Amino acid sequence: DDRTGDVHPADAHDLIRVRGARENNLQDVSLDLPKRRLTVFTGVSGSGKSSLVFGTIAAESQRMINETYSSFVQGFMPTLARPDVDSLDGLTTAIIVDQERMGANVRSTVGTITDAGAHLRTLFSKLAEPHIGGPGAYSFNVPSVSGSGAITVQRGDRTIAEKASYTRVGGMCPRCEGMGQVTDLDLAELYDEDKSLADGALKVPGYTADGWYVKLFTASGFFPADKPIASFTKRQLHDFLYKEQVKVKIDGANMTYEGLIPKIQKSMLSKDRDAMQPHIRAFVDRAVTFITCPECEGTRLAEHARTSRIDGISIADASAMPITDLADWVRRLREQNSSRGVAPLLENLSTLLDSFVMIGLGYLALDRPSSTLSGGESQRTRMIRHLGSALTDVTYVFDEPTIGLHPHDIANMNRLLLELRDKGNTVLVVEHKPEAIAIADHVVDLGPRAGAHGGQIQYEGDLVGLRASDTLTGQHLDRTVQLKEQVRERTGALEIRGATRHNLRDVSVDIPLGVLTVVTGVAGSGKSSLVHGSMPKDAGVIVVDQAPIRGSRRSNPATYTGLLEPIRKAFAKANGVKPALFSNNSEGACAACKGAGVIYTELGFMETVSTPCEECEGKRFQPAVLGYHLGGKDIAEVLAMSVAEAREFFSSGEAKVPAAARLLGHMDDVGLGYLTIGQPLTTLSGGERQRLKLATHMGDKGGIYVLDEPTTGLHLADVEALLGLLDSLVDSGKTVIVIEHHQAVMAHADRIIDMGPGAGQHGGTVVFEGTPAQLVAERAGLTGEALAQYVGA
Ligand code: ADP
Ligand code: ADP
Ligand code: ZN
Ligand code: ZN
Repeated sequence: DDRTGDVHPADAHDLIRVRGARENNLQDVSLDLPKRRLTVFTGVSGSGKSSLVFGTIAAESQRMINETYSSFVQGFMPTLARPDVDSLDGLTTAIIVDQERMGANVRSTVGTITDAGAHLRTLFSKLAEPHIGGPGAYSFNVPSVSGSGAITVQRGDRTIAEKASYTRVGGMCPRCEGMGQVTDLDLAELYDEDKSLADGALKVPGYTADGWYVKLFTASGFFPADKPIASFTKRQLHDFLYKEQVKVKIDGANMTYEGLIPKIQKSMLSKDRDAMQPHIRAFVDRAVTFITCPECEGTRLAEHARTSRIDGISIADASAMPITDLADWVRRLREQNSSRGVAPLLENLSTLLDSFVMIGLGYLALDRPSSTLSGGESQRTRMIRHLGSALTDVTYVFDEPTIGLHPHDIANMNRLLLELRDKGNTVLVVEHKPEAIAIADHVVDLGPRAGAHGGQIQYEGDLVGLRASDTLTGQHLDRTVQLKEQVRERTGALEIRGATRHNLRDVSVDIPLGVLTVVTGVAGSGKSSLVHGSMPKDAGVIVVDQAPIRGSRRSNPATYTGLLEPIRKAFAKANGVKPALFSNNSEGACAACKGAGVIYTELGFMETVSTPCEECEGKRFQPAVLGYHLGGKDIAEVLAMSVAEAREFFSSGEAKVPAAARLLGHMDDVGLGYLTIGQPLTTLSGGERQRLKLATHMGDKGGIYVLDEPTTGLHLADVEALLGLLDSLVDSGKTVIVIEHHQAVMAHADRIIDMGPGAGQHGGTVVFEGTPAQLVAERAGLTGEALAQYVGA
């Protein structure tokens, strides 16, 4: 099979050629993708788009890049599994820009993950004047172009040469080491002061009364181990908590004693949160609070760097400004310095900041911790890093880049994607929104449905052809919806009064109960701040968001939803053995991978890599456990079923388990019928996580559901199913509040609350409140315009 579609054979070298792809549900897919063009991948959720784009094309590119490392480096890296595909030709380096939230490294900010922070520091090192009374020489810790060191700028009349390395001192606040925060421990979580140490006062994991540490504490003689801690003298308490390292003798051996707090700091807090064992992590989450560094007040900078200014503005001021304002300020500096050496730097910085504004992120500040960005915001921030890149002939892979964007902002996002293409790159985009599909040079539609019913190419070609095709996507592309004739009446109201969180400007609004409310507004207008941060405390809200689900790497939909419980019991009963055998975190688990099915390799210099466990071949259980069956299937075979298959399997016959069938029904109802029940949670997309959370809360007694862009990851056809689901929730007496940009959802609302008018400090007010019909009739704001267009009014 060597078809080249409608591409002229002479251009064949300008194609990415995929032959026989079979990752996940892909059914021996072969296709050609034009290079240096923008290709959009469409199809219902679960049809196989990610398996093709991320799991096959990007994965193979990444694997081949790894092979270019020296054999020394490769020695530290696991061998990535080759994707299940016959052949792949014409690949270029793939860069994945997806919605993975950025890690919790507190040093990382919007400024540091783009070049903006470094540019700003260079700018300040060149133009800033020391503050009166400040030291004469200072450094902004600017890495040199090669990244190999730092340059130090001397000013004023001192010229003592000061060499500052990038990671030490220099411009960084010495107290918090550039984190902007210091840790504070909640003593009540460390010990119970009414007990003695011998009585088990310590609540720190591993510090049991008969354990090693307590023995050391007792032997130290600095305080009485048999008296309640509350009775310690000041001196004793100090020694217990803070004493520096000293030698003590226990049973004739020399040991080192140090106070509880430095001990915990070193043994627990110095580790990356993700690398901690779950019980340690849970303890740390309880006991540690972060407070703003008292020395630098969160600016992360040493005093001299903090106080020097350009036109009265310090680098901390500049980093705290909304980027829109910072861009204006830099533009003014450019005019004032057009003939000086800093002109190119100012121009670069200006262009970079303008792209933030263009992409709908102008409301962010450079000092915003990247860990607080939403999935959509973090994808767009990372996109900025690549816009300025000098690389060409790269394959950029995006996962729904329009997530979190108001229809009004999509045009700008489109422009940036086209710019990337026009610089000579291949751009592959998974998308659902018609406005985003509209810019495709080439469309690949997968389907017809999800999971085993998908995985085939339904259409390849241009947009005209897609519209004319009988694919689900083609049929839905130009479909508009009608506004509802009648909206529901509210049964009460949640009163928000004087909300001021983040950018909210003293917002008072009633959120109606018993109806479907959609909260709209451009990105950064304050929707989340209102809905997540301002609800009355006693409202009993069930938040169903896209945030990562806490849990171990062994977690999967079956464990997370509680589905595995009744299944384990049924297996145990049918075989006359213990239920625990069928749990992948117990004795029945494969010893090599501890029930994960994959082996994780942590690498300092790149992302953690997983490879299938060779011992159990990914089945997670010991061979003996796989000898037990229920309805003819072993536990690994059950975990490999899709939700829809499992629902049928547990509904009747020998394997009838009503409790399992009911939970699976909820999962099917939220549109996850295609999901494999044993698929690791870490591989789910944000949209899938949200729908899984929704499924687990379907039977809840609670009354108020808050959802954050639930259409993420959904095809237009899936959106119709979602609307039906939201309707059934409301009709069963619940209140549903949804943050959305999708016009079909807006049109379906009983009530709309529109935040704006702009983003950040230009937003934060309720600009419209009423029914969708009123919004359209008044053409109120950007949202009114967008909805009016959509319903053809
Ligand atoms: P889409 O991107 O179109 O939503 P996916 O490629 O994510 O679809 O999924 C296609 C099918 O492959 C689904 O049935 C999904 O459950 C399955 N799948 C995806 N990732 C994995 C995985 N890591 N392990 C097992 N099955 C998977
Ligand atoms: P939306 O949900 O409409 O996109 P948000 O409520 O997330 O808007 O943001 C409104 C404003 O609040 C923006 O200026 C944003 O930068 C700011 N903001 C949101 N979350 C945080 C946070 N964790 N820390 C600081 N500022 C925040
Ligand atoms: Zn500090
Ligand atoms: Zn294993």
